[in-house]
Amino acid sequence: MKSLLRILVLLFTVTLTAQSTYLHCGKLIDTKSGKVLTEKTIVVSDGKIVSVENGYTKSKNSKDQIIDLKSKTVMPGLIDMHVHIESETNPKSYLEEYTLNDADVAFNSIKYAEITLMSGFTTVRDLGGSGVNVSLRNAINANKVKGPRIFTAEKALATTGGHADPTNGSKKSIMGNPGPKEGVVNGVEDAKKAVRQRYKNGADLIKITATGGVLSVAKSGQNPQFTVEEIKAICETAKDYGFHVAAHAHGDEGMQRAILGGVKTIEHGTLMSSETMELMKKHDVYLVPTISAGKFVTDKAKIPNYYPAVIVPKALDIGPKIQDMFGRAYKAGVGIAFGTDAAVFYHGDNGKEFGYMVEAGMPAMEAIQSATVTNAMILKMDNQLGQIKEGFIADIIAVDDDPTKNISTMENVTFVMKNGVIYKK
Ligand SMILES: [Zn+2]
Repeated sequence: MKSLLRILVLLFTVTLTAQSTYLHCGKLIDTKSGKVLTEKTIVVSDGKIVSVENGYTKSKNSKDQIIDLKSKTVMPGLIDMHVHIESETNPKSYLEEYTLNDADVAFNSIKYAEITLMSGFTTVRDLGGSGVNVSLRNAINANKVKGPRIFTAEKALATTGGHADPTNGSKKSIMGNPGPKEGVVNGVEDAKKAVRQRYKNGADLIKITATGGVLSVAKSGQNPQFTVEEIKAICETAKDYGFHVAAHAHGDEGMQRAILGGVKTIEHGTLMSSETMELMKKHDVYLVPTISAGKFVTDKAKIPNYYPAVIVPKALDIGPKIQDMFGRAYKAGVGIAFGTDAAVFYHGDNGKEFGYMVEAGMPAMEAIQSATVTNAMILKMDNQLGQIKEGFIADIIAVDDDPTKNISTMENVTFVMKNGVIYKK
C-alpha cells in the first residue's frame, strides 16, 4: 500500500514538472474574432494549449522551453479540406495506376505528408485515393510518420464511367466490373453498400463525384453522374456513421442534385449559377474552391503530352473559370471552406491558394478564417482545432510577415507545431 502511494506521489510530481513550451508571439491571429493581437505568450504542455497570456511571460521552471516568435505572426495550424495525399501530378500519373503497388504508393505518400505538414497544414481532409490514405492516417497518428492529421474519404464514390470509376480509360480486358466495394455505385442499394464499405475500410467521411471531372479519362468534365435518389441514399447512410459528404462538382445540374441530396461541401463548383449559390446558402453547404488546381491544370494542358488528349480541352475550359466563380460565390455570401486539391499540383504549394482567394476579392483575414475556424467546424473539431485557445490542441504555425498586409507570406511558413511537438523552427 505504501509503495503504491509512493508511486502515485511520484507520478503526480512528474506531471507537475512536465516540460512546458512558452511561445512569445509578436503578433497572434485570433481566428474567432478576426483580429491581429500583439505581444502574447502561448503556454503549451502535453500537446495542449494551457493558456494564452498578455505580454511575454516566463516560467519559474528552468526545464521549460522558450520559443522566440516576436518577429513573426502566429496562428493556428492550417486545415486544407481537399488534398489527395497518396499521389502527385506528373506526366506518368496515368501509367502509374497500372504500375505501382500499394507499397509504392505508401512510400511516396510519406514524402507528400511531410511536405504538407512543413508548409503549415497540420490537418487535411483527404478526398480519395486507393485506401493507403487510411494506413497513412494511422501511421501518422501513431507517430511512425511525420504528417498532418488526416480525415480521409478512403476511396471516392462514382457511378459507372464516372469521374472516380477506377477503371476509366482501361482497355476492356482489364476494365472488369467494379462495384460498391470498389466505390462504383448504380442505384440506391449500391449507394448504401458503398458507404458501409467505406466505414468498414476505415474512412472518416464520404466523397462522391457528382459530375464529370477534368482529370479522368472521359469525355465530359461537367455532366451530372448521380441521381438525387442515389445521393440521398449516400448522405442518409453516411449520417448513420457520423460521416459528412463532400461532392466533387463542376457542372450546375450535378451540383444542385448534390445540394438537394444532402452533401456538406461542394468541391470546385466551377460552373455554379447564381441560383445554385442561393441553394448553397439555404442548405448551409460550403464551397471548397481549389483555385490552385484550376490554375495548374490550365498551365500544364498547354504542354504537349502532359495529360492524355481527352483531358486537354476539359482542362483549358474548366481550369480558368474557377477563380472567377469563387469571387462571385464569395460576394453572394456562400460559405467558403479553404481547400486546394493538392496532388493535382505539387504538395506543399497549398499556401498559394490564400493569394488567389485574396486576388478574387476575399479579405486576407477571412481567407485565414476559412482555413481554420470554418474547416474545424465542418470536421466537427471546432472545440479542439482552428483557434489558439486554452484547452485546444497545440497546432500552431508562424509566418515572417503579417498576412493581412502581405498574403504571400502564407506560402512560406517558418514555424510548425503539431500536437505540441515542434516540427519546423
Ligand atoms: Zn480532388
